[in-house]
Amino acid sequence: MTNAERVKVAEPSSALADSIRASGLKVTAPRLAVLRVLDQAPHSTAERLFVAVRAELPGTSLQAVYGVLAAFAGAGIARKIEPAGSPALFERRVGDNHHHIVCTRCSAVRDVDCAVGEAPCLTPAHDSGFAVHTAEVTYWGLCPDCQAATAAAPSTLSIPAPLSNKGAR
Ligand SMILES: [Zn+2]
Ligand SMILES: [Zn+2]
Repeated sequence: MTNAERVKVAEPSSALADSIRASGLKVTAPRLAVLRVLDQAPHSTAERLFVAVRAELPGTSLQAVYGVLAAFAGAGIARKIEPAGSPALFERRVGDNHHHIVCTRCSAVRDVDCAVGEAPCLTPAHDSGFAVHTAEVTYWGLCPDCQAATAAAPSTLSIPAPLSNKGAR
């Protein structure tokens, strides 16, 4: 998480347990721990969640965290997103068809509200007869931190190539 990520007030365990129960799942210690971490660190990988959960529940395995995340995604209380070139990321914000903007340099992820408010918010020019239900948009760019970093230290790619190859075919 970068310092630009909004810090949320921690949700009490009772509210977290309620949302697990409301999704039709049984409340277990690992599920509670994963949901608590996910609440504080949206767009996290399973590995990152595992590290945080293990600090709270030392007996938890990575496999158990994957199991919890699969159950959450199946029950609709977590969403799995898979930006190209990134491991799967998980978040609690579900059901609003929001999109994501991803930094091409540091992989920071931020939410972008759905342009229309419901899926699919983009209508294809030609739907080939498909009944379209979802349009998932990933915006790619440079986050503010990386813009500042690249402005301070220009990429070596912008330095002209040395002249030692002069005369080579
Ligand atoms: Zn960045
Ligand atoms: Zn999101």
